[in-house]
Amino acid sequence: MNRFWSPIVQTLTPYVPGEQPKQTDLIKLNTNENPYPPSPRALQAMAAEAAESLRLYPDPNADRLKQAIADFHGVTPAQVFVGNGSDEVLAHTFLGLLKHDLPLLFPDISYSFYPVYSGLYEIDFVQVPLTEAFEIDPQDYQMANGGIIFPNPNAPTGRLLPLAAIETILQNNPDSVVVVDEAYIDFGGESAVALVDRYANLLVIQTLSKSRSLAGLRVGFAVGDEGLIEALERIKNSFNSYPLDRFAISGAVAAMEDRAYFSDTCQRVISTREQLAERLGELGFQVLPSAANFLFVRHPEQDGAELAARLREQSIIVRHFRQPRIDQFLRITVGTDEQSRLLLEALRQIL
Ligand code: PMP
Repeated sequence: MNRFWSPIVQTLTPYVPGEQPKQTDLIKLNTNENPYPPSPRALQAMAAEAAESLRLYPDPNADRLKQAIADFHGVTPAQVFVGNGSDEVLAHTFLGLLKHDLPLLFPDISYSFYPVYSGLYEIDFVQVPLTEAFEIDPQDYQMANGGIIFPNPNAPTGRLLPLAAIETILQNNPDSVVVVDEAYIDFGGESAVALVDRYANLLVIQTLSKSRSLAGLRVGFAVGDEGLIEALERIKNSFNSYPLDRFAISGAVAAMEDRAYFSDTCQRVISTREQLAERLGELGFQVLPSAANFLFVRHPEQDGAELAARLREQSIIVRHFRQPRIDQFLRITVGTDEQSRLLLEALRQIL
């Protein structure tokens, strides 16, 4: 550790993202990217932006993008916050949740960035165990808390919480911000955005990284009550006034507007997921029901880490977590039908 920096740097336990290999001939099923390219309209919009206006700063408020998101979700632009990937939106949200006296609640098996942000901002937290079936039970979120956050569908399990259960959590916690991280909602779930007009303490976070194939562009957003959004704007403007560059704003606007392309590619991923789940079941895998663009699976006779390593030898990269309760599982991103075929072929050889 460099002696010139503050000792606080030594206390951080940074997030370790899934591998982004340099090798390009791998079948990359480890970080839940979309196998299809972004909307052609988004690519055109970004090319036009590059030709015209990179000399100038972008709009610090990204008003065009807030409008496009508001139109898509049937809310007002004042109910929308945008950021550099949903990770940044989450980071600002965590700063807003810093309370000192009450812990933040999130599931024990969940997005591994939550404990990292908590550490960064020195937020106390309690990791609430998932049920035996790897589900979130709303009744488990009743202790005194300074906020609640969970992904829906949850990651890495893929399990979906219905809106009625989210309402139970909201009703049991009227004084807490309840954050629903919907990175994967477009692959089969109903968005909690439908509830934001009824619950002033609900914040819904989404990303263009997964269902809109723009992981490389880094655009995420939050939808919620104007009061919650205004607080996020204050935090953002205390940190970076221009989180979204001109490419991000113009590409994201076009991607939000191209609804036909969005629903077509989501449908393709869902249909591939259902077929892959069935085939993996036939090979003896236990496959958790998934509403996301990945499957969480284990084989009763195979060690999880070993299986991931054997797949890697065959140029297929999937995600394995060295964490209690799930270290026998693999998280496999749903790719194209052809990628599923190659994965199944490799597994048949290994098993
Ligand atoms: N939330 C969850 C649950 C995720 O899995 C991810 C992707 N790793 C994110 C948020 C962040 O996505 P992004 O920053 O690309 O929007």
